[in-house]
Amino acid sequence: MNFSNRIHNLKPSGTLAVSSRAAELRAQGHDIISLSLGEPDFPTPSHIADAAREAIQAGFTRYTPVPGIPEARDAVAEYFKRFYGVEAARENTMLSNGGKQVLYNIFMALLNPGDEVLVPAPYWVSYPDMIELAQAVPVPVFAPISEGGKVTIERLECALTPRTRMLLLNSPSNPTGVCYSQAELNALAQWAIAKGLFVVSDELYDQLVYDKKLCASLSPLWRRHPESIAIVGGLSKCFSMPGWRVGYALAHADLIRQMSKLQGQCTSNICSIAQKAAIAALLGSFASVDAMRSEYRRRRDVALAIIDQWSGVTYPKPDGAFYLFLNVSCMFDEKTPDITSLCTWLMETAGVAAVPGSAFGDGESLRISYSIEEKTLVEALNRMGRAFLDK
Ligand code: GLU
Repeated sequence: MNFSNRIHNLKPSGTLAVSSRAAELRAQGHDIISLSLGEPDFPTPSHIADAAREAIQAGFTRYTPVPGIPEARDAVAEYFKRFYGVEAARENTMLSNGGKQVLYNIFMALLNPGDEVLVPAPYWVSYPDMIELAQAVPVPVFAPISEGGKVTIERLECALTPRTRMLLLNSPSNPTGVCYSQAELNALAQWAIAKGLFVVSDELYDQLVYDKKLCASLSPLWRRHPESIAIVGGLSKCFSMPGWRVGYALAHADLIRQMSKLQGQCTSNICSIAQKAAIAALLGSFASVDAMRSEYRRRRDVALAIIDQWSGVTYPKPDGAFYLFLNVSCMFDEKTPDITSLCTWLMETAGVAAVPGSAFGDGESLRISYSIEEKTLVEALNRMGRAFLDK
């Protein structure tokens, strides 16, 4: 068959590829612990699941308006008021199939062929491919561990060209878990706006910040520059709802209208039942979110106590999300000269699946997710530690 250049050039998602390979090996009887996928291991909180059950029982199963039912859009606006004190109208919000579709909608609505997007690296695996699908050019700007894994204005400035159109920020970061402070986020966004760029702030993990002082969002700055900023959020991680596919946007009403036009031609509304669940999540009690955050923090500390014994391995300390991004270049040798071969070797010898950092724009690191129960996490890390020691 002849496929389009577009599909030919598109890489499969690195995270999904490793996790399906791990599942395949497990199905063949191999003893594999997967630390590959960023998928919360907690059940969806019961009051959210109850709202969905009620929606089914009430026959709420028809098409809805493309950007979402009014109550769900209002719930998104209310969320920003509740946590960040930001006033937004229904017209500033919409719901899409996960944060992924929100990002895709934004890129397709704003980018022209050849436009450049500054993407701090390491970056989440799907950003470059999504940007390329919009025929634009991702420009990685590397943030080294020695600088806390955070990008600086100086580094962004060096990557700026007359074709730069957008800056993409992500805090807490996937894959590092690094969190920018409010002042750092504001400074980066203000620099970008002064350069005439549009700023996309991916805040998918905003409720999973361990230190309250680091809780930050560009939504207050959006209020002052609604034409220059869009916020991306979602329920997958913070509310343990990855399979429900609920993402949301906060943006200028004109951008929301264009994104809805695109979504209307692609997928229409998100699942009607998931919208009722989203209302319960965004407006309801956050006690279960608080409990999950505490548990992730505990697991981070347990994991770091083990990893700190691996000599030569370095990382930026995660303040949120549930990832560790480990520079393991000290383990490269003749048999495993790069990160892909090292991850394959880990899978084969230690039975642990981790995602090669090359998928995130860093060929010296690997990503592990600690969204897995503590006992299994410890077992996986001990296996990795033993394998590294025997090297
Ligand atoms: N966002 C998660 C991750 O980075 C889920 C997988 C994906 O959508 O790529 O692992």
